[in-house]
Amino acid sequence: MSKIIIDQEKCIGCNTCPMMDPETFEMDNAIYKAKIKKQPTEITDNIKSAIDACPVGAITIEEN
Ligand code: SF4
Repeated sequence: MSKIIIDQEKCIGCNTCPMMDPETFEMDNAIYKAKIKKQPTEITDNIKSAIDACPVGAITIEEN
């Protein structure tokens, strides 16, 4: 199983990842950082696009 990780230390709260995949990512409006809304069952193209689009490289995939 793959797991998506967001490094909230790196995240600058640009809102890109929730826009590219709102099923997987959402903003934590209390701290203006992205968080995982729901871990996906597979790594979709939307998730890959969000990872590529993150300006600070805060999103990674952890393979178990
Ligand atoms: S794209 Fe990156 S910097 Fe922007 S909200 Fe998502 S994790 Fe944070």
